Amino acid sequence: MYRSYKQRCMTCKKNMVIIRSFKQRPVCSECQMRSLSGPVSDKKFKKLFDIDPKFYETSAFLRDIRYQYSLYQNLTEKQIAAFKRVVDEFKNPKKKQINAIVPKAPTKEEQAEHKQKRAKGLFQSERSTLRALRTK
Ligand SMILES: [Zn+2]
Repeated sequence: MYRSYKQRCMTCKKNMVIIRSFKQRPVCSECQMRSLSGPVSDKKFKKLFDIDPKFYETSAFLRDIRYQYSLYQNLTEKQIAAFKRVVDEFKNPKKKQINAIVPKAPTKEEQAEHKQKRAKGLFQSERSTLRALRTK
């Protein structure tokens, strides 16, 4: 099992990000969400990313794909296919395809552990965010 740890967000250098996978980029969801509104010039991708914003808020996977695009202005066919399948899964929750695409579905124990860690981690970063807001 991969041990999660905290690292400072590489974009805002302020929020802490819980790293759960060696593939994960240290970018907080705040910054990821911000990068989602970047311009998409390619028509094909414009159509692909034109989904309910709630999907992005819910899925770190969709955010990550969208973020990858904002970095490289392109995606691999595999990423596009996975993105479509996850969106499809959100639209049709009865179809349980998501586990087939995202190989690292955490176990219940891992989820509980993450929840605990997140409760502690979020509390800290929320406090520092509040502090930052106050000093502005
Ligand atoms: Zn950030």
